[in-house]
Amino acid sequence: MKTLPQTQPAKSSKLRVPSAQDLPDYAPVPRSALGPALNEQGFYVGRVERNLYWITDGVYQSAFLTTRDGVVLLDAPPTIGRNIQRAVDQIAAENGVTNKVTHLVYSHHHADHAGASSLFGKSVTRIGHEETRRLLQRDNDSARPAPDETFQDRRTLEIGGERIDLAWLGSNHSPDNIYIHLPDHDTMMLVDIVNAGWAPVYICNLTEDVQGYMGAPAKALVYPWKHFIGGHLGRLGTRDDVTLHQRYMADIDASVRKTLPTIDPTPYFQKYGENVWAAVKGYLDECTDAAAAPVIEKYTGVLAAADVFTASTTFWVMESIRLDLGYASWVHP
Ligand SMILES: [Zn+2]
Repeated sequence: MKTLPQTQPAKSSKLRVPSAQDLPDYAPVPRSALGPALNEQGFYVGRVERNLYWITDGVYQSAFLTTRDGVVLLDAPPTIGRNIQRAVDQIAAENGVTNKVTHLVYSHHHADHAGASSLFGKSVTRIGHEETRRLLQRDNDSARPAPDETFQDRRTLEIGGERIDLAWLGSNHSPDNIYIHLPDHDTMMLVDIVNAGWAPVYICNLTEDVQGYMGAPAKALVYPWKHFIGGHLGRLGTRDDVTLHQRYMADIDASVRKTLPTIDPTPYFQKYGENVWAAVKGYLDECTDAAAAPVIEKYTGVLAAADVFTASTTFWVMESIRLDLGYASWVHP
């Protein structure tokens, strides 16, 4: 693949090189999970609907709207980096419209979706949730200037005759992640919740609020739309991708609740004695693996990498069920 991992290895003579043949094998990726081929520069740009376009490098996604007054960019992932402007230039030239990026909307504050922001200079108007502004000011990364314009719950942008509805509907993946709805383009952009065709990466897509994460797809489905931009991997999504993801997460939730009461922690505490963390690890790993097993079996061949990441997501859902919901919580008599 042409895209590089986001963290490039340090240039060091001591670079550790694992042997590829010793690495584990996984189930094949279903063809339905894959998107269009990338060009020689390592990106694909395509039309979502009318003057709304999306860009992917196979791992990350960005989108933009061409308007009579300038281009509105939705996220600026650093892995796509300078290819964002190349994609805009290509589309602008094909359609005889301006290629000048005038606005940049942040889906949330994370560097992997916003880290190419500074490429667009100081004159671009950056728009995001007020918590995105607070977090970016705190984290002080020059690659991600804080938004100049913020909102609290909802805000409608009217730029160059085009409409974008922004909404913050509670924390989920991050405290500041927003819903970007383009009603005149039948599109919902909601990043780091649903990966179309794929299982979530580590711990529910590295989610801070699991209950908020589990509730987010239903909030997205309340809006009318046909096209889904999830921020990751190589293709756009549909409403069916979102409902499939909901079923997958619900199956993990149900499997955890069913499995947790059936596993006795006593042998782990007998074995490890005063090393209570060893006992906790043994017990929770056992619960995770037992709860994940039927879900992996059900979704292998349905969601790509179900066998790679379901255990990690199951662990995180289990911890939320225990700690947020108090399930199987035990009070000393
Ligand atoms: Zn994120």
